[in-house]
Amino acid sequence: MRKLSLLLILLLALSACTSVKTEESKEVNIYSARNYDVDKDLLIQFENETGIKVNLFEGKGDELIERLKLEQSEPIADIFMTVGAETLYPALQNDLLADLGINKDTLESGYYGDKWVALTRRARVIVYDKVNNPNPTVQNLNDLTDPQYSDQILSRSSTSSYNLALMAHQIQLNGKDATKELMLGLVNNFARTPTGNDRDQAKAVIAGLGQYAIMNTYYVAAMERSSEPEEVKVANQIGLIYPNETHVNISWIGQIKNSPNPTNAQLLIEFLLSETAQKEYAEKNGEYPVLNTIPVSSLLLPWGDFNKAEIDYETLGQYSIETVQLFDEVGWE
Ligand code: FE
Repeated sequence: MRKLSLLLILLLALSACTSVKTEESKEVNIYSARNYDVDKDLLIQFENETGIKVNLFEGKGDELIERLKLEQSEPIADIFMTVGAETLYPALQNDLLADLGINKDTLESGYYGDKWVALTRRARVIVYDKVNNPNPTVQNLNDLTDPQYSDQILSRSSTSSYNLALMAHQIQLNGKDATKELMLGLVNNFARTPTGNDRDQAKAVIAGLGQYAIMNTYYVAAMERSSEPEEVKVANQIGLIYPNETHVNISWIGQIKNSPNPTNAQLLIEFLLSETAQKEYAEKNGEYPVLNTIPVSSLLLPWGDFNKAEIDYETLGQYSIETVQLFDEVGWE
């Protein structure tokens, strides 16, 4: 009996402590366009370690930005996380984000601003069949427009945010006219009407539907660990070409301005930037980490060093509308 009352007193004392410590609920609300298993695992880990309940709402990056704009006067979400830099511009322009109070010393430079930080980096590259095309000669996206590759190029549709960011980046680097020429050349060489996701492009290359495809590197890593034997086979037979100036996009995270649980949001962001979480992103999802304290996954190492093209993540989204117009003009479905 005495033991029980002692326990009760302890519990009461504990709950008094926590209610004094924070006025926030023990929750954090996330809007996420990162729909990967590794994220769900990490969020459960965060819940277990902190006792903070994670409410996850998934959607597409641009749609979540629209929702955040609608809710701006009374935000519901504490955190927004997504898979491409093109949403950064509208997020900043619409003043959706809060200043981040996190320590950025261990982060790779160039991958954060006052109100955002990259969670991971991803390279969009050219892939080919190592067995049937052992000595590929192409080195960059422009090479794929050569008439000798007529009916040989595979890509997913222009509605893919990865292609939107890739081509918006081209406008940022080389201007609209050069980008239109590149797009036209690619469309002229398409092996088929764009269909399927990134993995499907790799599968099509191995099936002999075309010689080269454009895709994100982490899908090759994901296919290597797939439970489907066909995907493992494709991953082993695919070779990667990092263009001279490789397009590296970011998956980024930000805290929503005036959000209901800012302290919990900051804890979660710090957790996702911890060595543990960053290693998971690299090892389970094949993404490049943003911490300069951990080595790149052994899985990514054989693919070698590469040159990253200069890119201004904060203004990339400025070119989104122009990019969509160009996709339309060149008939990239
Ligand atoms: Fe993806």
